[in-house]
Amino acid sequence: PSAAELVDALTLEVPDFPQPGILFRDLTPVLADGAALRAVTDRFTDVFDGGFDLVAGIEARGFLLAAAAAYAVGAGVLAVRKAGKLPPATLTEHYELEYGSAALEIRQEALQPGTRVLVLDDVLATGGTVEATCALLERAGAVVAGVGVVLELAGLGGRDRLTGRRVEAIRVV
Ligand code: 5GP
Repeated sequence: PSAAELVDALTLEVPDFPQPGILFRDLTPVLADGAALRAVTDRFTDVFDGGFDLVAGIEARGFLLAAAAAYAVGAGVLAVRKAGKLPPATLTEHYELEYGSAALEIRQEALQPGTRVLVLDDVLATGGTVEATCALLERAGAVVAGVGVVLELAGLGGRDRLTGRRVEAIRVV
């Protein structure tokens, strides 16, 4: 089966999580399946083949994808963390959520200017998280080589916020 078929077969739909009315896609079983994790990782490294020097994973499920993809090609990983977890000096990017706001951080010293970074996360929904991540990386002088997500929730406008960027979604629902 293809990566998309494996994602489709293994993703769980959880109604009313984390809030009533939200249909949460749980990709934990995709990550827990060896064939699926490998298929997903291979897809990202094939699509962006040779185009990146570093893989950024967005907390927390993005960390797992980033580590797998980075290891496969001998690149390093960068943890894009929720605010307050990293020691100074950090760069912070605030962004709006559907309800409220959030902030993401990276270590200021983590990036050499011009580093080509592949950004990975599990789900692209409204795109706010990936948009903030790209802004953060670019403020640090990095070049966003592309964005890879396992699942894109079309209709939430995520892709529209990432115009001009190369976005690879393994499965779109
Ligand atoms: P966005 O900023 O695109 O609206 O939301 C994407 C972020 O929220 C990602 O970091 C993703 O992990 C998380 N997220 C939003 N919706 C879902 C969902 O249905 N399932 C999972 N696993 N994560 C989600």
